[in-house]
Amino acid sequence: MPQLTREEIINYLESDDKTEILFSLAREKRGQVFGDKIFLYGFVYFSTWCRNNCNFCYFRSDNKIDRYRKSKEEVLDIAVRLVDSGVNLIDLTMGEDTFYYDEDFETVISIIREIKKLGVPVMVSPGVVERKVIDCFAEAGADWYSIYQETYNRELFAKLRINQDFDKRMEGRKYARQKGMLIEDGILAGIGESAEDIAESLFLMGDAGAYQVRVMSFVPQNGTPMESVTTPDRNTEYKVIALMRLLYPNALIPASLDVDGIAGLKKRIEAGANVVTSIIPPGTGLMGVARSTMDVDEGGRTFKEVAAVLEEMGLKAVGREEYKNYIGGF
Ligand code: SF4
Repeated sequence: MPQLTREEIINYLESDDKTEILFSLAREKRGQVFGDKIFLYGFVYFSTWCRNNCNFCYFRSDNKIDRYRKSKEEVLDIAVRLVDSGVNLIDLTMGEDTFYYDEDFETVISIIREIKKLGVPVMVSPGVVERKVIDCFAEAGADWYSIYQETYNRELFAKLRINQDFDKRMEGRKYARQKGMLIEDGILAGIGESAEDIAESLFLMGDAGAYQVRVMSFVPQNGTPMESVTTPDRNTEYKVIALMRLLYPNALIPASLDVDGIAGLKKRIEAGANVVTSIIPPGTGLMGVARSTMDVDEGGRTFKEVAAVLEEMGLKAVGREEYKNYIGGF
């Protein structure tokens, strides 16, 4: 059962008086459950084509940008590089690319099967898909189905995810759970939400059975309707990470390299995160989501660099078997 009341969550979010205490409690809680262990995820954003028009997203269909769709061989090459570097999981992410939606999910399913043969867990982040596609993901061995609600305030959701169905996203998550997959949910910070909205989202993510919960600060993207909205102070994101840790001590809670690159890692780990996401090999032409190119080709998002930062903090990147054992216990 959650250890914090709604009022306590709102107080932490609205006042900075107890922020350092909050972070320290969150670190203590992480230490009790995970010791000094941190998990690292590889990120393969294999298609930046998307049929949707989310107001916050660089890859929305109306944005006239260069896009790519990696071939199966390219995806597998990148996955092998990531696995060899030591990551605990491969996150296969795509926009809602009509190439797959209208004709060819079989390619994605075969990629999952091939990556599973490498002995590494797989997370699939494809957007909203039909039940029969989720069935195939589960049968192919995908461990996680990731789909972010962004907010549980329906009005705000409608402003962000234009013409998309709030309940369909929820149902997809629920169905994947029934099929035995683990689920990840996430919210955005700095998109006009109130402290009450955040508290509500935190409780509902847990109720839906998400074992991985995340928050990322909104970053304005060129060419989108929200390009002139200011990116929020990161303190809210850090506090939400800490609140998630206190509410859900056993959860996997990411520190994403996608918002502030490697420079933003330490603060998120200090707030109680225990997973580092968006590790991308340099020179692959892959993009991130919130900061599409930050630190990618400079090599700032590699396993080695993340592990070095963790070591400086007295923490350690753990091996794949340990990760598998952990998620096997969910
Ligand atoms: S957030 Fe996802 S679904 Fe929305 S436009 Fe971007 S890639 Fe498409």
